[in-house]
Amino acid sequence: MKNYNVNEKGYYGEFGGAFIPEILYKCTEELRSAYAEIIESHDFQEEYRRLLRDYVGRPSALYEASRLSQKYGARIFLKREDLNHTGAHKINNALGQILLARKMGKTRIIAETGAGQHGVATATVCALMDMPCTIYMGKTDIQRQMPNVERMKMLGATVAGVSSGNMTLKDAVNEAIRDWCCHPQDTFYIMGSAVGPHPYPDIVARLQSIISEEIKTQLLEKTGRNYPDYLMACVGGGSNAIGTFYHYLDDTGVKLITAEAGGQGWDTPYTAATIHSGSVGILHGCKTLILQTADGQVIEPYSISAGLDYPGIGPVHAHLAKTGRATVYSINDDEAVRAAYELTRLEGIIPAMESAHILAVLPKLKFQTDNIVVLTVSGRGDKDMLNFLKHQEWAE
Ligand SMILES: *Cc1c(COP(=O)(O)O)cnc(C)c1O
Repeated sequence: MKNYNVNEKGYYGEFGGAFIPEILYKCTEELRSAYAEIIESHDFQEEYRRLLRDYVGRPSALYEASRLSQKYGARIFLKREDLNHTGAHKINNALGQILLARKMGKTRIIAETGAGQHGVATATVCALMDMPCTIYMGKTDIQRQMPNVERMKMLGATVAGVSSGNMTLKDAVNEAIRDWCCHPQDTFYIMGSAVGPHPYPDIVARLQSIISEEIKTQLLEKTGRNYPDYLMACVGGGSNAIGTFYHYLDDTGVKLITAEAGGQGWDTPYTAATIHSGSVGILHGCKTLILQTADGQVIEPYSISAGLDYPGIGPVHAHLAKTGRATVYSINDDEAVRAAYELTRLEGIIPAMESAHILAVLPKLKFQTDNIVVLTVSGRGDKDMLNFLKHQEWAE
């Protein structure tokens, strides 16, 4: 049987590993030797689950979307991560990592953010736990995402503007890593997706696996069986997708479907479709597929969706695609906007622009009427209203 989980050396097939500066070796080593035992401990689980229930609002609903089902000819269930506190799945991970940081005796938190969603989730749990935090954010993104910058500040975080490179997410990650190098003793870096050096992709996967754990129980209640025929999720770095798939990875009867951001098309320069048009390289401490030029310069990604706009991808998703375990679709901006309007009008749910990318895959699949489909709505669309309005014509 193939193994889709991380191996002892931190690899998923040929992808993963920890390619880090010497100075961080002790930090990642400390984390690597501690994380699994802490996360599996009774103490951790008790506190984590209590907060997921009472603070985040879990379990998130599994909703049978009947009008959407009728349209696509299958039983479609939506896993409603949009209903979580702060509006997306990212809080599951931020909460877990801050508990891990505390158990490791760390007293200061840093994180990177692109659209600001992970920054808000991190600032939220730092307020909750009364820990100081610095969020690195490219100056271009600060301009584009002002409401999230204000939320982080109101929550008490320091937002550190980054003016290197194109002043976007990739540059913010570089700056956060630089900070970590300077404060290896007291600082914990809360990574926002299933990316970065080992063991981060595995930490994030384990923390987000609550999504598929709940799907198992909820599906059994609603359908009499605990597995679907299809599991569907969008992929930026890949955290909501691996959380959705985690407990079904070895269950090869369950088809795994992902959507990456095609932007204006995966074969144009304006794309974030890493699996369709990337090649093997090293980014942010991890060997994975990345958007790069022939001589290895990282290409600035483009997508209408800020949360999918990353030039790399979590190593587990590179592996799932390469082995054929997952089928990956590239969804363009206009298809995503159309799908968001469709869900809104059929079900009264405004999805995040990121989540709209996986909704746009529905018309591309051929279902049987008794198929059970679970699609994760990773977040809500309030933050994307201006973008939706600007592109209303695509929905008509
Ligand atoms: C950040 C974000 C994503 C993309 O991140 P993943 O790690 O791939 O899940 C998707 N949806 C929403 C709502 C987000 O905020």
